[in-house]
Amino acid sequence: MVECKDKKCPYHGNLKVRGKTFEGIILSGKMEKTVKIGWERITKVKKYERYERKKSKITAHKPDCVKVSAGDRVIVGECRPLSKTKRFVVLKKVEK
Ligand SMILES: [Zn+2]
Repeated sequence: MVECKDKKCPYHGNLKVRGKTFEGIILSGKMEKTVKIGWERITKVKKYERYERKKSKITAHKPDCVKVSAGDRVIVGECRPLSKTKRFVVLKKVEK
């Protein structure tokens, strides 16, 4: 078990996760505690009665104890704003 001193960790810190959770794929893991996550969502276009694919992209905080890298499928949860762009935190890796 890795020692985790991250205050912004949902398991060992005092960060509360509430709201929505999403499943996405890590697009970029170059930053130390931040990852970019993207996924496709399908929305219905009423006018044409068809479905449209839209891509969502967010930045999420990566706690010290979560070991993930680019290409991994992860679950992120909504939390309080951690920085200007980060409002999500990586909860866990989804095993294939
Ligand atoms: Zn932790």
